[in-house]
Amino acid sequence: MALTTEQKKELRSIIDKMISETEEELVQLVEYTRPVSPDSSIGRISRMDAINNKAINDAAFLEKKKLHQKLEKTLDRLDDAGFDNCNKCGEPIAFGRLQIMPYTRRCVRCSGR
Ligand SMILES: [Zn+2]
Repeated sequence: MALTTEQKKELRSIIDKMISETEEELVQLVEYTRPVSPDSSIGRISRMDAINNKAINDAAFLEKKKLHQKLEKTLDRLDDAGFDNCNKCGEPIAFGRLQIMPYTRRCVRCSGR
C-alpha cells in the first residue's frame, strides 16, 4: 500500500526538521573538531584528553554527516512509487517506523536480521 499524500506531507516535515537539527549539530561538532593546538601550556594529560575527545567528535561528525546525506536522499525519493517498500522483502514499511526513521529502507523484520 502506497503512502497517502497526507502521510507524505507529514514525513516531509519530519525529514525537514531532522535535517535542520542535524545541521545544527554539525555546526556544533565542527567547533569541537578543530585541530588540537600543540600549545603545551594545557599540559600533557589534558592535551591527550583533547586528542581523545577530538577523535570521538570526529566520529560523531562523520555519523551526523552520513545521516544528513541519508535524509536529503530520502527527500528526493519520497515521491518514488516504492518509497515505503522494504528493499529486502518488498513488504510495506510500517508508517510508525517511517515517522521515527524516515530514512530507513527496511522493515522491522528485515532490519533485525
Ligand atoms: Zn522487509
